[in-house]
Amino acid sequence: MPGGMAKVFVPCEKSSGETRVAAVPETVKKLVETGFTVSIEKGAGSNAHIPDESYESTGAAIVEGDVPWFEADLVLKVAPPTVEEASRLKKGSTLVAFIAPHRNLEVVEKLAGGEVSTLAMELIPRITKAQSMDALSSQASLAGYKAVVLAATKLGRYFPLLMTAAGTIPPAKVVIMGAGVAGLQAIATAKRLGAVVEVSDIREAVKEQVVSLGGRFIELPMKESGEGSGGYAREMGEDFLTKQREIVTKHVAAADVVITTAQIPGKKAPVLLTREMVEKMRPGAVVIDMAVESGGNCEMSRMDEEVTTARGTRIIGISNLPATAPDDASLLYARNVLTLVTYLAKEGKLVFDMNDEITRETLLTHEGRVVHEPTAALMKGAG
Ligand code: NAD
Repeated sequence: MPGGMAKVFVPCEKSSGETRVAAVPETVKKLVETGFTVSIEKGAGSNAHIPDESYESTGAAIVEGDVPWFEADLVLKVAPPTVEEASRLKKGSTLVAFIAPHRNLEVVEKLAGGEVSTLAMELIPRITKAQSMDALSSQASLAGYKAVVLAATKLGRYFPLLMTAAGTIPPAKVVIMGAGVAGLQAIATAKRLGAVVEVSDIREAVKEQVVSLGGRFIELPMKESGEGSGGYAREMGEDFLTKQREIVTKHVAAADVVITTAQIPGKKAPVLLTREMVEKMRPGAVVIDMAVESGGNCEMSRMDEEVTTARGTRIIGISNLPATAPDDASLLYARNVLTLVTYLAKEGKLVFDMNDEITRETLLTHEGRVVHEPTAALMKGAG
């Protein structure tokens, strides 16, 4: 291998509640076959139920201490590094992780200053060619599934229509707000469990998908399209959101479960459920706010807490739902990372071709600069 094999390091995730790991034995095996030397920090897979021995049997070394950080050419992570972790990375090395750059400007500054090339998993373009690298989608889908399962566990009722010897139980009513990747999986899961599902979104394009999954689309008076760029939603004005809340209120008041997933990339999540709306919900109803990390779709949700109203409606805001299914979340994330790495690898090293759309869009820092324009602009504003 010219210049020796690139060293890959997979550290333990240290941030609280992060149970995932960025490589699994299946992907490590492929990295080794591609020509990388792979080191896994002792215990890195333990929360995802992967023992060290499973990694070792694929040709990886199990390591401890800070040295592997300093020596690595490529570090694979799930959660954003701390500033301290970022400062350990050697000049010219590459980091692959979710970075949430707008919330972690200090980390981004450290990475750029340290001449680290950062591939931010949330920046993978939503194009067909990059679908198998799309970690936002793989994790959102799992989160949508888990949100429904969690709601079903919390709810003191059945989801399906049941005709029993003791009489009939009507199906649970589930309202899902935001039918992106997470919302669509939530619809499918709630339908599988037998609930009646109603859905609100501002992109007309999703209506067909909602209906094909068996959901009912709540029509909104759209004077202008909610379609933004890259298939995402755009930020709607306060007048629209007020009107939307008026229409959705009666659906929410009749619901057993409300799951909110609405997000606008790089912006605070829109408020879809006000306190007034939640107070109209029935006792025992459950709200799962999946946008709690970006400010929340529900005025009453609190990050990683369960809030109970005076009438007994519960609002649950879990910031990291994929981490509640660490085994599959890690497997899918690790495959997304592997696809990206093998896409960029030439003879056991990563090559960055700025004419390539995936490379250009995913790079956050490169050669000492913040190359992702929106983040660079935020940093200028902050500095
Ligand atoms: P997201 O997490 O940014 O948002 C979730 C949903 O919330 C979106 O459907 C959005 O329209 C909706 N929303 C925003 N404001 C709202 C409001 N006021 N009321 C109701 N809903 C609101 O979205 P996402 O899941 O990351 O993906 C969005 C879309 O991107 C997908 O549905 C798809 O069209 C596209 N996409 C394409 C690819 C690909 O081609 N490879 C992959 C993934 C996603």
